[in-house]
Amino acid sequence: MKRILIKDLEKHIGEEVLINGWVDVRRDQGKLIFIDVRDVSGKVQAVALPFNKEAHAVAEKVRSEWVLSIHGKVNARPEKNVNKDEQNGMLEVELLSIEVLNESVTPPFDIRGAGDDINEEIRLRYRYLDLRRPRLQKNFRMRHEVELFCRNFLSKENFLEIETPILTKSTPEGSRDYLVPSRINPGKFYALPQSPQQYKQLLMASGFERYFQFARCMRDEDLRGDRQPEFTQLDMELSFVEQEDVMELNERLLIAIVKELYPNKRIQQIPFPRLSYKEAMEKYNSDKPDIREDKNDSDLLAFCWVVDFPFFEKTDEGGWTFTHNPFSAAKPEHREWLMNKEHIGDILTTQYDIALNGFEIGGGSIRNHNPDALRRVLQIMGHSDEKIDQNFGHMLEAFSFGTPPHGGIAWGLDRLMAILQNEPNIREVIAFAKNGEGRELMTESPSEVPVEQITELGLRLIKP
Ligand code: ASP
Repeated sequence: MKRILIKDLEKHIGEEVLINGWVDVRRDQGKLIFIDVRDVSGKVQAVALPFNKEAHAVAEKVRSEWVLSIHGKVNARPEKNVNKDEQNGMLEVELLSIEVLNESVTPPFDIRGAGDDINEEIRLRYRYLDLRRPRLQKNFRMRHEVELFCRNFLSKENFLEIETPILTKSTPEGSRDYLVPSRINPGKFYALPQSPQQYKQLLMASGFERYFQFARCMRDEDLRGDRQPEFTQLDMELSFVEQEDVMELNERLLIAIVKELYPNKRIQQIPFPRLSYKEAMEKYNSDKPDIREDKNDSDLLAFCWVVDFPFFEKTDEGGWTFTHNPFSAAKPEHREWLMNKEHIGDILTTQYDIALNGFEIGGGSIRNHNPDALRRVLQIMGHSDEKIDQNFGHMLEAFSFGTPPHGGIAWGLDRLMAILQNEPNIREVIAFAKNGEGRELMTESPSEVPVEQITELGLRLIKP
């Protein structure tokens, strides 16, 4: 007999079926034993009747989270037992025979509830079990739906999904890099990407014109709040565009996601309002303002764009650093200031950020495709020409071969999903999340490694 999914049982009333799944809960009433069976598609109540001795005997010994293969008959429930609010509330599976596919020891916590009352360290320690809970199953189903929607949408808009390297070069992009020692190049290191920024720009130099990727980004930062050492961006870059084009496309995609996949949610204002950085700071004291008119409404989505960011800010040492991204272009009216290194503090960049309910969910800019302008930015930041060539020579060189004007954006996908799913933090939408100290409690990573492994890399450990 071919297995059917629990969600399809209603099409088989009166028939014998095979279902596979987990014991969600078992209620022993002596003569009748009820087992709620769960598979990836939902739940159903099964019942062992006393006259079927064999099935009844197995039903007596099974426990929560055992895995069963069930041969049963789908019976319509008598009118008085119908539960309209429950999946399969109109039917019941009469157990004809049960095969135990695997047993389970007693789980360390209840997986049937939302889980918010359970210590999170224990949830992360047994994450594979925690992920069985319906709330998390739903989060990942919706994350899949959102990603699929983005892929289809962008593909129709002539984007190509292209993968970029995970082992890259360490360059000053804003945060600290994770380093990977190279065994075959002793003393040299790869860096894990903080974002695919340089590669996506180089893909524009390659003439792909429109690129996207669900990109894993790694930043070795101190973990404030619910940051994770690795997170996912929906990253994109487009050629021959201006700021408006990138903003229009992204706004259209976000609206389509909400309308198609979250029809119960309301977008506060379309088109999304725009604030300058200055206005946002003056009015909300935040560059990711929460502009919701009703903060108690869990289904309200208040998107807004923040634009006109200053390009540079003063460092503690009195020099200049970029506020967002060294590759951004200045606003057209300030490009001359940049080239002449004048009014540095007043130069505005083409950066656009998008905020949702007080969180930054994306940001990007139009880039400098002119090598001299990029060099000027790096000079203002105090890099010597020699260092610029060392760190960014490949970018300057690529730009010298006819790189088209281009710009892009990256979304913080985890954050967006957490908000759409009404989750309090991004760990609830990351399958194997790390805790606040950057540790993954299930596999206990990071972990020590044998000294030989370190020596082989040409390294020596300094004991703290
Ligand atoms: N790479 C940038 C970031 O990670 C986003 C962009 O400018 O496209 O913030």
